[in-house]
Amino acid sequence: MSILKIARIGHPVLRQVAAPVSPEALASDELQRLIRDMLETVEAADGAGLAAPQVHQSVRVVVLQVDRSRGMEVWINPELTPTSDELIGSYEGCLSVPGLRGLVARPAGVRVTALAPDGSPIALELQGFPAIVAQHECDHLDGVVYIDKVEPKTLGFVEELRRFPPAAGDDEEEGEDDTDAPEGDVLGDDEDLVVEEIILEDTAEA
Ligand code: ZN
Repeated sequence: MSILKIARIGHPVLRQVAAPVSPEALASDELQRLIRDMLETVEAADGAGLAAPQVHQSVRVVVLQVDRSRGMEVWINPELTPTSDELIGSYEGCLSVPGLRGLVARPAGVRVTALAPDGSPIALELQGFPAIVAQHECDHLDGVVYIDKVEPKTLGFVEELRRFPPAAGDDEEEGEDDTDAPEGDVLGDDEDLVVEEIILEDTAEA
């Protein structure tokens, strides 16, 4: 296994629409190795998720954590369908945009269909933070990065946002030892800046 280099914003691979994975490709040693390397890479980066374009592979593969008790999951060719008209806002971050966070409003719920690494079908419904992580990662497969969707005037360096918390109620964990916080892809385990309670009903469609 290998820890892969993560593409940063400005690299064209992050703006390509990634190609679907065929059943033959999914079974190949090459793709199975990519999946293992992505899992090792996201663990090493302490991220909540990682999409293949972020490691310079323009294919529709994401790894992400939507349920801590289940650990990282792997989705091949994921398709998301919003299940809620309600939008929720959270401060997202991205391994490809190190050091920054910004408020993004997204549908509060999504239905997911995808394939597992063994080719078996996955179908689940997510709400709240897991739905946000899923949307962030799947956006990468379409060449979209969260900064494209950030609410105006909310983008900031994470250190500054910690010094000047952007909204009430998001700083309960200020005392936590998070001064050397990892670059979470989304905030992941480091959710102290996530403003999950902001409900942005009827505001701009993300
Ligand atoms: Zn990202």
